[in-house]
Amino acid sequence: MATDKQERVGIILKRLKKEYSGKPKTALAFQTPFELLVATILSAQTTDVQVNKVTPALFKKYRTIRSFADTPAEKLAQDVRSVNFFNNKAKNIRKTAAMIMDAFGGAVPQTMEELVTLPGVARKTANIVLHSAFGIESGIAVDTHVKRVAYLLGFTKHTDPVKIEQDLMAITPKKEWGNLSHLLIYHGRAVCQARKQLHDACVLRDICPSRNK
Ligand code: SF4
Repeated sequence: MATDKQERVGIILKRLKKEYSGKPKTALAFQTPFELLVATILSAQTTDVQVNKVTPALFKKYRTIRSFADTPAEKLAQDVRSVNFFNNKAKNIRKTAAMIMDAFGGAVPQTMEELVTLPGVARKTANIVLHSAFGIESGIAVDTHVKRVAYLLGFTKHTDPVKIEQDLMAITPKKEWGNLSHLLIYHGRAVCQARKQLHDACVLRDICPSRNK
């Protein structure tokens, strides 16, 4: 028998799919799994809009994983300097490209276990790449919006993304894992915002335990 949380997740998926019509997808622009991996590494502590301003020229300049691997991190850093923490991110991207060439035969790996061995890649990034580039449901990407909205909806009491992910996976059908993440992100940006939750405009208000807070 479905629990209260499972039932609510089902309703939420249905309503948010209607609210944010179209197939839920990442806002990051990419053509290949490696491009998505790079864009996702760049998106930490940076908006997707900002990343999308940088990546077209970056992917035009460095067309292969090998070219990223062969470029000094300092040079790559100059090409991504408008995103936060660009020095560290450039280092991680270069090392990740080198590791994909050396350890994974030049192809982005398609398992969580392998992806999280890459520099700068934790579960959130791996989940985004697996879902959006390969159509593989391996977990639920938990970013700042998913974290907040899941808490307000009463689906978790945790603050650790890995524990929040486990709580969400336990109540969500596997085929909807990636969709749930995207939909909570849309809702967190548009309505259930960090600074102010727009309860009156929210399509989930009748089933949300935080509507009166
Ligand atoms: S009712 Fe309020 S707290 Fe609950 S999901 Fe909607 S905006 Fe967020």
